[in-house]
Amino acid sequence: MNSNLNMILMGLLYKIIPADKIMKIQTSFLQFILRKQHKLQKCIHYLEISVVDHCNLNCKYCANFSPLAQKTYLDIIDYEKDCRKLSEISMNNVETIRLLGGEPLLHDKLEEIIFITRKYFSQSRIELVTNGLLLLKMNDDFWRSCSDNTIIVSISHYPIKINYKAIQKTASRFKVTVSYSKFAQPMFKWVLDIDGKQNSNESYLKCHRSNICVTLRNGKIYPCSMIPYVRYFNRYFNKELLENEQDSFDLYQTNCFDEILLFLSKAVPFCKYCNPNNIIYSNKWEISKREITEWT
Ligand code: SF4
Ligand code: SF4
Repeated sequence: MNSNLNMILMGLLYKIIPADKIMKIQTSFLQFILRKQHKLQKCIHYLEISVVDHCNLNCKYCANFSPLAQKTYLDIIDYEKDCRKLSEISMNNVETIRLLGGEPLLHDKLEEIIFITRKYFSQSRIELVTNGLLLLKMNDDFWRSCSDNTIIVSISHYPIKINYKAIQKTASRFKVTVSYSKFAQPMFKWVLDIDGKQNSNESYLKCHRSNICVTLRNGKIYPCSMIPYVRYFNRYFNKELLENEQDSFDLYQTNCFDEILLFLSKAVPFCKYCNPNNIIYSNKWEISKREITEWT
């Protein structure tokens, strides 16, 4: 389905049916039928790359802890090396790549990142996920690079002032596809169990991020974006939700894509820190006060 139409329908659906019910339907379908079954997998469906960890918006409940993040930019040389390796092992079998953050438009080498991504993943759908605040300030080189590399600019719709018409006009001038929902999306609150007392397998199976927000970072593949970014939560609140070696898969330790897919289809030790039973899906959007209760 056309992604714009998809977003509009999802927006309408959120208006009619409570968000938590939608998420439960989506989650059970995706989890049990598609994403957690290694035998059904031939590719990575969604791969996320954090271009910049910090953000210019700082939303309450941000799933990637951006309000707590220090300024951190993707290293171009390491990124190219990782893309080359993953594209070789996977034989280009990554369906959708999402360049996000934080706010990816804050990276001053964004055009190079876009170029590298397309160079190694010629078949993938590539989305640049942004809050849209900086889009009208981007220069022609940015829009040309989106156009030349067939990038879809996907704007996450928050209840903030964004001139969608003007963005659409600029994008059309460069023949770039822009997608956004007609309605602001509800924020979901992820609930961490800081004592790590959850059952990892159960959390993984109930989690709507596991093997869906697959994340590539510093030569490693993670089943979700939670694990590589929790360091910001730990540092800010002086906690120790520890990542260990089994929580990620080292790209350089294998030449077999199936090993990666098998890893992604199972719980990792870190899942003990997640409590999907208590997730609250339909929260009002607000600016973060950086309180621990936004994530626990
Ligand atoms: S715009 Fe996105 S990345 Fe930025 S703080 Fe909000 S939810 Fe997080
Ligand atoms: S650590 Fe496990 S349960 Fe938590 S978000 Fe990641 S995959 Fe889901």
